[in-house]
Amino acid sequence: MDEQTDKDWMRKARDHAVAIKGEDPADTPIGAILVLDGVEIARGVNRTDHDCDATAHAEIVTLRAGGPAHGNMRIEGATLYSTLQPCGMCTFACIWAGVSRIVYGAGREDVHEMYFEDRHLSTLDYIADAYKKDLELDGGVLKAECAKLYFGPDDDVPEEMQAND
Ligand SMILES: [Zn+2]
Repeated sequence: MDEQTDKDWMRKARDHAVAIKGEDPADTPIGAILVLDGVEIARGVNRTDHDCDATAHAEIVTLRAGGPAHGNMRIEGATLYSTLQPCGMCTFACIWAGVSRIVYGAGREDVHEMYFEDRHLSTLDYIADAYKKDLELDGGVLKAECAKLYFGPDDDVPEEMQAND
């Protein structure tokens, strides 16, 4: 996949997040798009707060829409674009769905630690290593533009806002 194509899809994912959730980090605008053979299958934003559902991360919402749209729970060979590095849950969901490539914008080091479920080990790196034959991982696409949507590593985020919703 060429670099410009990745940037184009990432920009769509970012624009979608902003269109639905705005640009305030307090509203956690995370967007994802699922692409197969150059065609968009589904897109989504995180809806954990809206749905009272801890599993409704943008990537999961997108995979849930993508299966029925594709007519199969396995979307073999698809690429998932996400504005923020996916958590372990979402990375595993991609493996179950047959997604073979994850491309993300901002990474762990670009944002506040509140966005990740484990603060001492990157579950995504762990899973990518364990499943390296099945999953390719590329990060940092439109990193600065994506990171702007989230609290920064040194931001003083109030405790009550540190839920990933
Ligand atoms: Zn997640």
